[in-house]
Amino acid sequence: MSINYQNIINELEDIKTIIEPEQLKKLSQDYYYFSPILVDKLADKRADLVVQPTTEEEILKIAQMCVKYQIPLTVRGAGTGNYGQCIPLNGGIVLDMTEMKKIHWIKNGSACVQAGVKMATLERATRKEGWELRMIPSTYKIATIGGFFGGGSGGIGSINYGQLRDRGNLHRVRVVTLEKEPRILELKGDETQQINHAYGTNGIITELEIPLAPAYQWLDVIVTFPHFMDAAKFGQDLADSDGIIKRLISVHASPIPEYFTALKDYLPKGESCALLTVSDNSLNALSELVKEHQGKITYQENLEKKNSLNLIEFTWNHTTFHARNIDPNITYLQTFFFSLEKVEEMYKYFGDEVMIHLEFMRVGGKAIPAGLQLVRYSTPERLNEIIQYHEENGAFIANPHTYILEDGGRKQIEPEQLKFKQMVDPYGLMNQGKMKAWTENN
Ligand code: FAD
Repeated sequence: MSINYQNIINELEDIKTIIEPEQLKKLSQDYYYFSPILVDKLADKRADLVVQPTTEEEILKIAQMCVKYQIPLTVRGAGTGNYGQCIPLNGGIVLDMTEMKKIHWIKNGSACVQAGVKMATLERATRKEGWELRMIPSTYKIATIGGFFGGGSGGIGSINYGQLRDRGNLHRVRVVTLEKEPRILELKGDETQQINHAYGTNGIITELEIPLAPAYQWLDVIVTFPHFMDAAKFGQDLADSDGIIKRLISVHASPIPEYFTALKDYLPKGESCALLTVSDNSLNALSELVKEHQGKITYQENLEKKNSLNLIEFTWNHTTFHARNIDPNITYLQTFFFSLEKVEEMYKYFGDEVMIHLEFMRVGGKAIPAGLQLVRYSTPERLNEIIQYHEENGAFIANPHTYILEDGGRKQIEPEQLKFKQMVDPYGLMNQGKMKAWTENN
């Protein structure tokens, strides 16, 4: 059925809508272009209408409208995802959640917030109460908390708290369904896994209750090493040093530091580096560990200080961002190495073609090096060969060159998640084309 969007706008009455073509283009995109494979597939995708609700009641009304006219609906936070997660494949409505930004309460190490609140705003508020977010992506300044749980995986803080999907990292959510009569569901504890990293295929998250971490005074620290494997071993040792309070251990093989032009005064040419966030009362212990590993501290500064370099914005996928600013031919991989021996093996095998960038994180209670390696891209076939080589040799790749849930890190959809989708989105209107199990079964 062809849809008259002017009628939809009229029926939505006071709810804010956007139909101006340049805005539609902007609000239909994310950072998918980090992948040359996704560029060809997603560059021309557009929503027909963007809707910006401010309340749950408005969201229920929009859901009702989508069901009534069978309009595809794609939820969007800040649109900072890397795999086209919030790009509408079949047009329809993009539901922009950024005006759903109320912080309801912060108490006893938990916070209850609307899904569109920016993580930087939330963290400023929690810090006033002595708490901070357990983990944030390097895009925390603009990314929303709903988008992080919908499309992210972990980040700064994952060295202590693991990944978003780990039990205990999400207490409760409220979700609007796209059933014949849309309703609000409350999911608690393990039930929240139904919407975790589901790319908004399983209902619209309107509210989240999340656990927090005690807030520290953080220092940014740069440590440099002449040899990459020394930097990597230091990273692992720091990750395993339970007495040193840290939030970030990000290790970069030469020549990656050369892409960090704003940090050039602190990064000797040809050396590898570790970018760290540690508590200020851990600095002495850190210095002793650095000495033991024969590294050199070239920068240390309080994160709160005005004009601080904010090392966070050089880590996680911001590393790829800076490298691509200098060489747009660079793309990336996401890898679980599980051991430094595996890192060394790949480092030696691929040389300069796959430059090693490690983020240390806790997986199953153990600190491991995870890779966000930079790849000098040549052809899709070569990229696949590189991925295949990793997988055949004991490194797990969460492929960032696909927008399909199961072809990325997920590998397969849990049967409960598919069952949940069948209940909350029986017409398959939400983020069409992203969940293979649904497409194949309907
Ligand atoms: P969006 O990109 O808008 O949405 C992400 C997904 O969630 C989409 O599928 C969307 O449909 C769904 N969604 C959004 N809101 C809702 C909702 N209310 N209900 C249901 N579904 C919803 N990711 C990390 O995990 N860690 C990192 O450190 C990290 N660093 C990054 C660095 C760069 C430079 C870039 C470009 C990306 C990075 N990312 C990282 C990816 C991304 O920034 C984060 O996952 C971020 O949290 C996404 O939030 P967002 O608000 O932009 O979500």
